[in-house]
Amino acid sequence: MSDLEFDEVTKVFDDSEGTIVAVEELDLHIDDGEFVAFVGPSGCGKSTTLRMVAGLETITDGEIRLGDKVINDVSPKDRDIAMVFQDYALYPHKTVRENMGYGLRIGTDLGDEEINRRIEEAAEMMGIESLLNKKPGSLSGGQQQRVATGRAIVQEPSVFLFDEPLSNLDAKLRKHMRTELSRLHSELEITTIYVTHDQEEAMTMADKIVILDQGKLQQMGPPKKVYYEPANRFVADFIGSPSMNFFDTRFRRDGDGSGIFECEGGFEYRVSEQMADDLETADSTEFEIGIRPENMRIDSNAPSEKSVETTVDVVEVVGSNNFIYLDLVDEETCVRTPSEIEPEEGETVTVTFDEEDLHVFDRQSGNTILHGHEQGLSTTDESSPVQGQI
Ligand code: ATP
Repeated sequence: MSDLEFDEVTKVFDDSEGTIVAVEELDLHIDDGEFVAFVGPSGCGKSTTLRMVAGLETITDGEIRLGDKVINDVSPKDRDIAMVFQDYALYPHKTVRENMGYGLRIGTDLGDEEINRRIEEAAEMMGIESLLNKKPGSLSGGQQQRVATGRAIVQEPSVFLFDEPLSNLDAKLRKHMRTELSRLHSELEITTIYVTHDQEEAMTMADKIVILDQGKLQQMGPPKKVYYEPANRFVADFIGSPSMNFFDTRFRRDGDGSGIFECEGGFEYRVSEQMADDLETADSTEFEIGIRPENMRIDSNAPSEKSVETTVDVVEVVGSNNFIYLDLVDEETCVRTPSEIEPEEGETVTVTFDEEDLHVFDRQSGNTILHGHEQGLSTTDESSPVQGQI
């Protein structure tokens, strides 16, 4: 079994500038055969975590286990782990065949016949059979990427580690390689950790996404879960593009049992008695509410107690959709509309959204208090594809 377990893993760097806690008490469980993508802002600890798994970085505290074996002190070559680097790290003076076989020749006692069998099998899988006698310098970025992946495949490892493997490729090739790597994963079913800056890549390829911030785990879950049910404001803001809209609010109960959010931007939004009941169990009346651009709409017939009138600041036409930026809270509030809805800049519009699409966060901690769709009001259509919304 190649379950990968992180138990309170911490990494501290000491350099001339002082001490940096790159990863802090990270607890994770990755199931055998699972494809997990690590995302988070620059410097959040993604690569350091990957490098600790590979054995390229020591672990300051905690344990990493592969199956039931603690691998903290196992040398990289004995970990049964193969890594694909962002810059491919191919030897320029060796042929593709030599590059692919090199790790096996120096790290195992496999004979020529078995090494060549593995190289040819991996080359076929990656569609690079005709490149085996070429040197990396004469290959395109995409071909080098395939060779680097092929070199990892021949090792038949228990775990694959990918550190932003597609970031040097152009957008079209990146999409193509994304599909290829997904296909490879379903074929080989090898436990995979994939670090990326590209959340669309993470959302479309991974079984689960790990979101890190400042070395700390924010949430781990399937793509739809982190999208529809972010654990906190950070995840809600990080996942999705354009980002979720946020409004500081004060909450009060109305005489009829319903509740009212008094929102920053000078508007009020009425919610049901059921949501009001749930919010009353919270310690505070100060919340932040979040609503995704695709869950807001322009509707001149919307009831005034569930809408806000404002002016259009900027209209961005992006093809099948428009992004309408409003003069509401720092001109950052964004509504995604179908392309046929294209108001003029400066036009007054009425904007509304449904209670079931609201996310409510604690203003102090940022933790999620509730998601509107969990209130039993109606369910968000989770069957709708996430792709295109991120
Ligand atoms: P990016 O997305 O920019 O690659 P990342 O999420 O992979 O970032 P890491 O490279 O893991 O982040 O870095 C995490 C933190 O550790 C950063 O603050 C970084 O400056 C610091 N760090 C990483 N390597 C070292 C090192 N060798 N010495 C000192 N500090 C380091």
